Parts: sequence; structure tokens; C-alpha cells
Amino acid sequence: MATAPQSVDTELQQLARRHLWMHFSRMGGYDAEHQIPIITRAEGCYVFDEQGNRYLDGLSGLFCVNAGHGRTEYGEAAARQVEELDFYTLWSYAHPRAIELAARIAALAPGDLNRVFFTNGGSEAVESAIKLARNYHRMHGKGQKHKLIAREVAYHGTTMGALSATGITELRTQFEPMTPGACHVPNTNVYRWPEEREPTWAADAIEERIVFEGPESVAAVILEPVQNAGGCFVPPDGYFQQVREICDRYDVLMISDEVICAWGRLGHYFGCERFGYQPDIVTVAKALTSAYAPMGAVLASDAVAAPFMEGTASFSHGFTFAGHPLASAIAMANLDVFEREDLCGHVLAKEGEFRSMLETLHDLPIVGDVRGAGFFQAIELVKDKETKESFDDDEAEYLLRGFLSGELYRRGLICRADDRGDPVIQLAPPLISDTEQFEEIHDVLRAVLTEAWDQMAG
Ligand code: PLP
Repeated sequence: MATAPQSVDTELQQLARRHLWMHFSRMGGYDAEHQIPIITRAEGCYVFDEQGNRYLDGLSGLFCVNAGHGRTEYGEAAARQVEELDFYTLWSYAHPRAIELAARIAALAPGDLNRVFFTNGGSEAVESAIKLARNYHRMHGKGQKHKLIAREVAYHGTTMGALSATGITELRTQFEPMTPGACHVPNTNVYRWPEEREPTWAADAIEERIVFEGPESVAAVILEPVQNAGGCFVPPDGYFQQVREICDRYDVLMISDEVICAWGRLGHYFGCERFGYQPDIVTVAKALTSAYAPMGAVLASDAVAAPFMEGTASFSHGFTFAGHPLASAIAMANLDVFEREDLCGHVLAKEGEFRSMLETLHDLPIVGDVRGAGFFQAIELVKDKETKESFDDDEAEYLLRGFLSGELYRRGLICRADDRGDPVIQLAPPLISDTEQFEEIHDVLRAVLTEAWDQMAG
């Protein structure tokens, strides 16, 4: 875990330790000597802490501040919205900003993903997508189709339905029993595949699982365009096309969880565009507003939405704040910036440079693999480059939490050192990042990874 580099035990530090419950954080690890990193200000690609130290936000908040920090025009859009309409709900009512935003998202989305159901974030979007898939089949008289197939090590959120899709054992066991119906198949961690393995192996595994479960019981398959947890697993060529065919063959809906991969992260508005597949349902959140307000959404194809649009039917599901007028106004302002500054085009133009700079780190003995797409890249750390031997649990614990997280932060780089699969460092800088930021990332990583190897070898 990262701790602040200076040890002035401010009142804010003490209040945070006493009252704030940070998410996924070992609260017991903080004290006057090991301080909570408190971010107080942000601008462009950088954030600043209590003491005024500057950090390159190499993770865009948490894969979400895609347009960069400090865009006051988003606040102005929110202020205008408060003057016009502060709040109204989407339960039985509508308001102009949610309508305009839904239409704009539908116009940007590929194919006939024309219906937009708003949520307040990613877990709610996944939760809603799961319920939608089950309900869709029930509307077609196939209520027994309720199971969900997800991939090992994938993260799909923390609410009980989304958690059942999440394939990370440590996140699940503490909250068992899980919502029934979810099962897991191998992911596309190609770096760890034996050389002779067929590229179709992982997609074949989905078909085998559908057949094993009984196609009449399977509602949907959920997958990210590039799987985040485990470290940016990019699919082999043709993977998604094959999964699409399998889903069609067995009347199973294909849910593309794009909570990270949408909104330019891979150089397109939607991650599925990058790999050329057409999902039935897409979940988005995070950078829909570039995180200036909480918001998520489920996009449904015309066919998936159709049964809910007729007669007395409805989707009996919703959230008070979903599609909030302020969040909708901010999302509209965010999409204006995406268009005006062609952020997707910038990612496509610059991803090669970013990637090449990370690949130069391959000369370090600890760097096993560099992978990813767009401004979403991971570096896998290994003990032995030749054999790809990974660090064991204790070593990974020391490497990531005992050394890397703190040291990267101390040197002014926020990124993710993660071991939900094998140990990786993940980078997802704001989409406005350019050569200056890539060089900064490279320089900090080179110094810290060199030192990490010395520590691990020593
Ligand atoms: N799905 C994916 C692919 C995610 O990466 C995340 C969060 O990182 C979620 C769902 C959950 O989103 P949230 O944290 O907004 O609930």
C-alpha cells in the first residue's frame, strides 16, 4: 500500500484514520509514521497531496478521469443544470439531460445498442445487466436460462450479483454464499499459455462450459474487451468473433463489460469497436463523466430491449439517483470534450509511442511481459525471465505492498501494483497524456524496477 512520503501528522490525517473507512484498504496499516495518501488538488495529468507534492496520475483516478483533471467547464455545466433542474428521478419520469445523453450514447454505440438504462456506477451496471439478461429470457418463456459465465480472475464489481461474476477467489470467499448461477472459464492470459496451445482454446472453453451447464440454463456470458484484473489480458485474434458465434448458437446473451474499456481507453468510444464484435449488452461507468460525477449505464440492443417496450411490460429495476441531471449534464460536457479534442484519435496516434517506451523496460531482468491496448497497459513482473517463473505469495506481498506501491508513490508516480493474478504493474494515464508523461512513467519505472530486482535478488 502507498503511504505518504512526509510524516507531518496533520489534523486531516488523524480524522481520516479515526473516521474514514477507505475501500479495499488495510486501515490498520496506517499510523503517524505510515500516513494515508491524501490527495487535495488535481490538474491535467497530475494530482497533489497535502504537502503539495506532485504525482503523475498514471491510473486516471481508478481508470476513470479519462479527460484529465481540473476541467472547470464540467462544473459550469453542473451549475447551469442546478439552475434549470436540480433533480428528478427516472422512476416513471424523464428529464431533458438524461434523454439527450441516452440518445447521444446510442448514436455513438456500434450497431443497434439503442436503449440506455442509467446506473450510478460499474457494479450497478453489471448488476443491472445480469438482471436484464435473466429477465429477457424469462420474457421469452425461457425462465430457466439464468446462469452467467464469466472468466477467471476477472473483476466485475462488488455488489452480490456482480461479485458472483467476479472471478477472484479472495474477493469472493469472505462473502459466501454467492448469488447462485455464476460459473467461470479460463481467461486469455496468453503469456502463461503453453506455446502449442491453439488460439481458439479459451473461446472453446466457453462453448464447453455452456454445453456442460446445459444451454437451456445459460443466460449470458460476460467479458471485458481487455481483461483488467490479472494485468490487461488482450484476446487472441478472432476470440470475440468466436464467442459471438457461440452465444448465437446457444441463445446466450453476450455482455461486454466496458466499465474500464469504454470512453477512449482503447482508442474508441467502446472497447468492442477495437476488436470488431457486436455485444447484446454493454456496461459502462467510470469515464462516462470522466469521473466528475458518479454515473454508469447499461446499453441494450433493440432485440434485448424489445420485450420490455410492449404492452404492460416493464423492467422492474432501478436506482433513485440513476441518470441524475447533474451527472447527465457533466457526461454531456465530457463527451463535448471527447469530440472537440478527439481524445480517441489521440490515443490511437500515441499508443504506439507509449507502448514502445514501456517495452524498452524489457532489458530489466524483472520485466517478463508488456501487454495491453490503447492507454491501458500492464507489465508482468517475474523472478525468471526465461522460465517465466513468478514470485511466490510472500515474495509478491513484499514486492508489491512492501516495496513497489510505496516507492512508486514516493517517486511521484501513481499506478497500480497488483497481484490478483501474477504480479503486475498497471498503467492507464489520462487520455491527454503525451510524450512528457510517457517519459516520466518510463523513468520512474526504470529506477524503481531496477531497485526492486536488487532487493528481491539480494
Ligand atoms: N466492471 C469492471 C470491468 C470494472 O473494472 C469495475 C471497477 O473497476 C466494475 C465493473 C465495478 O465498477 P464500480 O467500482 O464503479 O462499481
